[in-house]
Amino acid sequence: MWQVVGQSRAVSLLQRSLEQKAIAHAYLLVGPPHVGKMTLALNLAQALNCQAAEPPCGLCGSCQKIALGKHADVRIIGLNSGGNSTEAKSRTEIGIDQIREMQHSSSLPPFEGRYKVFIIDGAELMSNEAANCLLKTLEEPVGGVIFILLTTNDGILPATVVSRCQRLGLHPLATSQVEAVLNERRGIESQKAELLARLCHGCLGWALSAAADDSLLQRRAERIDRLLDITNGDYEERFDYVSHLAAQFSQSRGLVQEVLDLWLEWWRDLLLVKLGCNDAITNIDLEAMLVDMAGGYNLAQIKAFINSIQAAGEQLRQNANPRLVLEVLMLSIPGRSGV
Ligand SMILES: [Zn+2]
Repeated sequence: MWQVVGQSRAVSLLQRSLEQKAIAHAYLLVGPPHVGKMTLALNLAQALNCQAAEPPCGLCGSCQKIALGKHADVRIIGLNSGGNSTEAKSRTEIGIDQIREMQHSSSLPPFEGRYKVFIIDGAELMSNEAANCLLKTLEEPVGGVIFILLTTNDGILPATVVSRCQRLGLHPLATSQVEAVLNERRGIESQKAELLARLCHGCLGWALSAAADDSLLQRRAERIDRLLDITNGDYEERFDYVSHLAAQFSQSRGLVQEVLDLWLEWWRDLLLVKLGCNDAITNIDLEAMLVDMAGGYNLAQIKAFINSIQAAGEQLRQNANPRLVLEVLMLSIPGRSGV
């Protein structure tokens, strides 16, 4: 039983290769964050080492060990793995030392299973040296060793690495599918299931994390409060906010991108409300607030600001000066027109 939800194309392809014993020695799973890449990779590792007649059974000793991260032949290599914990925390890329260690381990026979499986989580974070080192391993496949690379963006991986892997695309699920899983399989009450299903944009993993850990929804609420303060605030407040975000950006680009994504989501909701498409909004729990706020802007203002947020995101991805980009964004927040 494959645990990953949806992704029928990728699953049936893997199932077929298992049945025909035509396993690739390297797979590349590509998809947005939390869409199910790690779940699918672990499922594949289970299928390769399962002791039951219909792998992956999820129940045998091997499947259970893999699910608990305790199988000696299944290893995850990522930003936070390997070395001591201080080293792991301060790492900003997957280094050559981690790949070399993996190579050494891959040269030894499986300890308890049939296959050694190495999952490289965030493969796009490999340094150039690490990627080149991995390439050598991929060029000389060894029987019984499978590499599974996970990435949100295969466009920034070296083409030589990509061409050595079988690529499987994972796609966001339909909102209704996520809602059904949360409600029917996980027993989450329907109102919360619907909200989480919309907020996760088809990436079930995020919804499951948010259901298990209230701090994610708490953080969203704080960010929306801040957005409203800043939108109604004066220039001084806005530039203070920019200083705060720019400082965060130097430590974590991801955090600032998350804030911009939330802004984009909010202003898209305002646009939808303005167009009378309230059913399609993401922030369903705050519909009344959105309706009230949408009354203060005209359509052209909302559209223009959505473009500004998208442009800011794009410029940050292209390494523009974060402070400058965010200041320009703050200056383009529309004033209430009352139209
Ligand atoms: Zn099993």
